[in-house]
Amino acid sequence: MFEVRELDLAGRIGRIKTNHGIVETPAFLPVIHSANQSIPARDIQAMGFTTVMTNSYITFRRHGGDAIEKGIHSIIEFDGPIMTDSGGYQILEYGKVNTGPLEIARYQEDIGSDFSNVLDTPTGVGGSRRQSEESVKKTLESCRITMEGLGQDRKSLWIGPVQGGKYLDLVTSSARHLSSMPFDMFALGSPTEIMERYDFTLLAQMIISAKKALPVDKPLHLFGLGHPLPLAMAVALGCDTFDSASYILYARAGRYITETGTRRIQDLEYLPCVCRVCSEISPRQLNELEADQRENKIAIHNLYMLKREIEATKQALREGRLWEYIGSKARAHPNLWAAFEELAKNSHSFEVFTPSFKSRGLMLSSYPDHLRPEIMRTHERVVSYLSGRQRRPLLILPEGRVRPFVYGKAYEMASSAFEIPFIIGYISVPVGFVPGEISDVYPYSQIVITPALQSDPRVMDQFIKVLTIQLRSLAPSMTFLVRDGQLDDSVYDLLKTLLEPKFMISGDEYILESTLERIKKILDD
Ligand SMILES: [Zn+2]
Repeated sequence: MFEVRELDLAGRIGRIKTNHGIVETPAFLPVIHSANQSIPARDIQAMGFTTVMTNSYITFRRHGGDAIEKGIHSIIEFDGPIMTDSGGYQILEYGKVNTGPLEIARYQEDIGSDFSNVLDTPTGVGGSRRQSEESVKKTLESCRITMEGLGQDRKSLWIGPVQGGKYLDLVTSSARHLSSMPFDMFALGSPTEIMERYDFTLLAQMIISAKKALPVDKPLHLFGLGHPLPLAMAVALGCDTFDSASYILYARAGRYITETGTRRIQDLEYLPCVCRVCSEISPRQLNELEADQRENKIAIHNLYMLKREIEATKQALREGRLWEYIGSKARAHPNLWAAFEELAKNSHSFEVFTPSFKSRGLMLSSYPDHLRPEIMRTHERVVSYLSGRQRRPLLILPEGRVRPFVYGKAYEMASSAFEIPFIIGYISVPVGFVPGEISDVYPYSQIVITPALQSDPRVMDQFIKVLTIQLRSLAPSMTFLVRDGQLDDSVYDLLKTLLEPKFMISGDEYILESTLERIKKILDD
């Protein structure tokens, strides 16, 4: 039912098959009000949103049993896939106790929902540990009742709601329990409050904690993410679909979405957008409109911004540059930057998903780019290469200009100079030691690294650790070292203590032929 087409980090482009057609993910689902919707759903469809979200409880209150006869598609006049939420919030709010999870579930199936949600008890971010445990427990019980009650014969795709809030261990255990139930998809609830506080680090931690325990072959929905700022990051962490009513709620409050945050429309002197609305109106004209007209125009603009962000994220994913894309977005807000660092710290968990070959080179601009999964993977690859070639002599040369290193003259001459097998390679920050023989493997010869990154003390710290592990795994019988003017003194200090080289020539005095002669002489003795 879910087919993954492209991968980058933990993000994917996929296809979900529903009763009303295919949903290509990542997808943003605008929330449609089933009784009071100012922008018709078919206009939203025409803007390129293939799938929408609507609330089953509002539908029930407004249309009751008639909705079963009409079907949700004709009520909101939308012929694509529709997700319904269970109305958990509203039911709690209005205290409607005579409606159980199974009734709510059957109702969603009967009105023809394509994606249905189990009646959950949302964990508020402000809740105590005890309340959060309680919400996880109640939600799981509700899931059990729903899935057992519906049995094998389900008409809709069913979504299991992960709860736990800021208690990350609860998020993981909630996800683990849900994984054993026959859900088609999962959802993480509910980041609305977190989004309002711009607490993107907590958001990232919650997604990582849920993904750890969820099956990778099923999609994950994120409730309530309606802003372009953290969207690409949520995709990179493995979320596939999103829903929000933010476009209309913001518009009602006169808030205009930009790439970096929302602005009050009165504060804008320019409209930094070329959508259908913004290209035909000035901020002053927009301000002078009647309230409902103004709301409508801002809402359409807001939708275009969300659409644009989804498309830009998908294109970046497809080109394998999701990391660069999130990095550039993260510069727009310190809280998003903090979340980006959180993602970088967890880079090892994305390594399995990140393709081992990309058509584009890697740009390492600044901290924490050295932690991206493609680089982490090279560290391990070198360790496994070297540990199969222990106790050989080691010759470390300057990196030189020719890429890959294996095609350079220095490597060619050095590798044919000796009768015994040598390990010949170069050292590069933050990549580590690169053996010549594998220097043509992606990404060694396709990396662009800035001096700013290479001189960052946090990058150097990590690099020294990596280099130590790599060289220890080789444990060379003897070492010959030509200093490269590019590398920091601390690297040579490490090499001296770790390897006790037979000699160390500085780059200025280095002539390849005489260096090779000198090594031969030492070998003969
Ligand atoms: Zn616009």
